[in-house]
Amino acid sequence: MFIEEKKIDELIKISHSAGKEILRIYNTKITKKIKKDRSPVTNADIAANKIICREIQKLYPEIPIISEESKKIDLRKRKTFWLIDPLDGTKEFLKRNGEFTVNIALISNKKPVFGIIYMPINSIIYFTKNKKSYSGKLKSNGILSKIKLIKTKKRKRNVMVVSRSHNLKKSEIKKKKVAFLNKFNSNKLIQSGSSIKFCLIASGVANIYPRYGTTMEWDTAAGDAILRNAGGRVVNLDRRTIKYGKKDFKNKSFIAKG
Ligand SMILES: [Mg+2]
Repeated sequence: MFIEEKKIDELIKISHSAGKEILRIYNTKITKKIKKDRSPVTNADIAANKIICREIQKLYPEIPIISEESKKIDLRKRKTFWLIDPLDGTKEFLKRNGEFTVNIALISNKKPVFGIIYMPINSIIYFTKNKKSYSGKLKSNGILSKIKLIKTKKRKRNVMVVSRSHNLKKSEIKKKKVAFLNKFNSNKLIQSGSSIKFCLIASGVANIYPRYGTTMEWDTAAGDAILRNAGGRVVNLDRRTIKYGKKDFKNKSFIAKG
């Protein structure tokens, strides 16, 4: 599945519109509910979802959309679909630490073939194009500037990135930090929220991101696309590359690496 350059620009503009609405709510009034899976959802998640689904449907009426915040459709026999997390890092959003993203991915034959990750707080965007990954900055009208090709970077000792809200608690990090770092041949640890972790590896700032437990496919698809096209991989603990369009959209533990 190939996406023309003109449509990539449109998709970038869609992520910008969603980000703008997220920021508007971030700076005014956030309302929160708890979902069945006990994770929080806010008015910003819902508003961003509406914009993204509506606009992508206009661009690609024939391709179904799976989103964290929309009804899940039956994907059997569907080879190609959009996989959206309109607001990734809702917990960070609620903590108001800025570490949340808009994630848009296209899945084809179980692989993430296109991805956008947009950070509304600093207008930085990561995206794929012609099997390469780029970073850039969006102007206030949604136009892309400062475009830079990004690539993973090999190091003798890994720089590790882990979640801010999952994996390890602060006290645990202190206690287990050395053992955990050694396990992954690492001597430096960075903590970050949302899909920014994938972007840090894709751009060579970090090398490894271990994530234990269940994640949802919309949490990883866009980051996976960007990382793959920058030279990295996301593998399960059995070292197999993770696939998309699984039953319940659940990922097992994985390691993302540059
Ligand atoms: Mg979300």
